[in-house]
Amino acid sequence: TATAPRRPICELPDELISQIAAGEVIERPASVVRELVDNALDAGATQITVRLLAGGVRSIVVEDDGAGIPAPELPLALRRHATSKIGSLHDLESVHTMGFRGEALAAIASVAEMAIASRTADAPHASRLDARSGELAAAARAVGTSVEVRELFFATPARRKFLKTDATELAHCLEAVRRHALARPDVGFAVWHEGKLVDQWRRATGEGVTPRQALDQRIADVLGDDFLTQSRALPEAAALGHTVRIHGRVGLPDAARARADQQYVYVNGRFVRDRQVAHGARTAYEDVLHGSRQPSYVLMIDIDPLRVDVNVHPTKIEVRFRDGREVHQAVRYAVEAALAESRAPAFTAGEA
Ligand code: ADP
Ligand code: MG
Repeated sequence: TATAPRRPICELPDELISQIAAGEVIERPASVVRELVDNALDAGATQITVRLLAGGVRSIVVEDDGAGIPAPELPLALRRHATSKIGSLHDLESVHTMGFRGEALAAIASVAEMAIASRTADAPHASRLDARSGELAAAARAVGTSVEVRELFFATPARRKFLKTDATELAHCLEAVRRHALARPDVGFAVWHEGKLVDQWRRATGEGVTPRQALDQRIADVLGDDFLTQSRALPEAAALGHTVRIHGRVGLPDAARARADQQYVYVNGRFVRDRQVAHGARTAYEDVLHGSRQPSYVLMIDIDPLRVDVNVHPTKIEVRFRDGREVHQAVRYAVEAALAESRAPAFTAGEA
């Protein structure tokens, strides 16, 4: 029988390793937006601006007013597995930043043109690093960081072909920003496309504003006033159990949708997709929602970091709970309690 010709085993060149790894993390412009906004948040930004051209395929610029990167460290920021966020396994187990893998910038640089301009508070001026040429030059900008990403997948036409229309890619980019914005009412966001302001959400926190009011404000800004009026806050008592706390809002059954496009679940501030959480929520709606109607909700689950593993998926969209049933139950009870409260006033009125 014929055998396939065999190549000798050899280690792949660094650039190819990065391109392969990038495939897991960077799928489309929205993945770049997600990673860059993650980084801006980790840097303590209070204002994040996203500028897009052609749905992000031609250009994505993310500007923040965070802590910045010292010029000597700029080349390191682009290296694979280089991070300022963890230094040990112990750090990983209780990680509180969005990033920790040190992969995103390296991945993006391997599939697009990239430049970073950054300035720390103690630097006399900003510095700009061009990823391709490695050239580091003085630049002008305030304290913070701008990352420019151009011509995504220019070197990998096969991947570029998978991209959809600019309008669709723009929609995905907007959704990526929305997911962050809901979790961080204390940060202002703006999104520009082709030089036009598409969306803008001002910081919702401030003196005399409770965290709950700030979240409600941000939910109204991002998902619309209708979402707010047609939803109920999870009761404070929904801090069920000792290890799982949940707050947020659940849509009333009447506001259910044809598609599951307004289901936002966060674990310790990170947007996730989780079957057990979705199932717990769905179960709570069992008696009030019929057919294939989909509930809307924003669920903020806070759990001891030691009880959840966030290092199971390259994009961290999935997490693994130490006790999934505990989370399922907490979600179910919390949502049920909010829905029951929403029916209570009508019941009382009927009796009176
Ligand atoms: P990770 O976020 O997992 O650490 P990244 O590749 O996304 O990996 O970023 C590498 C490093 O570059 C970060 O650890 C951080 O020190 C620095 N960095 C990236 N983006 C920013 C930013 N917007 N502001 C400040 N530092 C940044
Ligand atoms: Mg990162």
